[in-house]
Amino acid sequence: MPTLNLQPISSWNNSLSKKPLIISGPCSAESQEQLLSTARELKKIERVKVIRAGIWKPRTSPNSFEGVGVIGLEWLKLAKKETGLLTTVEVTTPEDIEECLKNEVDILWIGARSSSNPVFIRKLADSLRGIDIPVLVKNPIHPDMELWIGTLERFNKVGINKLAAIHRGFYPFEKTALRNIPKWEIPLELKRRYPDLPIICDPSHIAGNVDSIFEIAQKALYLGMDGLMIESHIDPPSALSDAEQQLSPDQLEFLLSNLIYSHFVFESNLKHDKLEMFREQLDSIDQQMIELLSKRMEIVGQIGEYKKQNNLTIFQLRRFQKTINLNTRIGRKLGLSRDFLVKLISMIHMESIIKQNEVMSRKEE
Ligand code: PEP
Ligand code: MN
Repeated sequence: MPTLNLQPISSWNNSLSKKPLIISGPCSAESQEQLLSTARELKKIERVKVIRAGIWKPRTSPNSFEGVGVIGLEWLKLAKKETGLLTTVEVTTPEDIEECLKNEVDILWIGARSSSNPVFIRKLADSLRGIDIPVLVKNPIHPDMELWIGTLERFNKVGINKLAAIHRGFYPFEKTALRNIPKWEIPLELKRRYPDLPIICDPSHIAGNVDSIFEIAQKALYLGMDGLMIESHIDPPSALSDAEQQLSPDQLEFLLSNLIYSHFVFESNLKHDKLEMFREQLDSIDQQMIELLSKRMEIVGQIGEYKKQNNLTIFQLRRFQKTINLNTRIGRKLGLSRDFLVKLISMIHMESIIKQNEVMSRKEE
């Protein structure tokens, strides 16, 4: 297992001595006015120590807002001068890093799309050799902890020891209530392997909507995470990116003042309490199973509609046998007993028939 040579967050800057580290700011810098007014409001919230802003936004679609570019760094520098808050920016190329250093950005962060790509990371790390700046590494989009560690290691190898991981959840196979599935078992395992690696949770990108941010932030604190990165915009409805998940500074203040921080006392216990850790892993997996079952039932409903329209029968024995055979074969290879598999698949099948029956017997309005 690779080792990481790390310095605690409290040594990064005098203003960061208090735990947890709270980073906030807009998803994207949009205008000088937007960034400065957000920063002024955030400055009033005592727990917020670092302002974030996306300047170059790696987006899924080229038609989405891709950031204002270098001019945004000038606005951020003004915000820093006026408020005294530290600044952090996502960098995607060595040129971005150079611009950030020129503009006195205090902390760099690596986004989820970049941290999935070792070729980009090698270039970014090479350009930081000999430079003393903290780097926050978001988890890769897909749940590959080794890749996440590899990215952290690449920065550590060039001498960056002010390092932290950011947990922003993982892209779901199927749509769930959250934008990204937390899979808490992964950051917990990372913490188990590297107890000195600070982990910051990004509830905004896990939630994808403002309603779930509190719950996720609270859970992260309970699990002993070292900080939170939460998006905040002076006028969320008008935001050019991630409008649904940004809090106004007032909402952020309310959220931060209602979180329970005293769970921090559990932190050192938790690191060593294996049973608690295993239970968290089980809870996370159970939750994902339930989400998948619900997704399955949605599709069952659609099949019901289709069968109704085409006058097909609900129960099709051949199909049932095929499902049993296929899944017991897969499950047996994964170490599950035949008896358990047959019971499980039959129960799921039975529930599906009930659901289809409901759909098919529904009278047209
Ligand atoms: C962001 O922080 O605005 C962002 C783009 O996040 P991620 O890389 O986690 O998708
Ligand atoms: Mn965002």
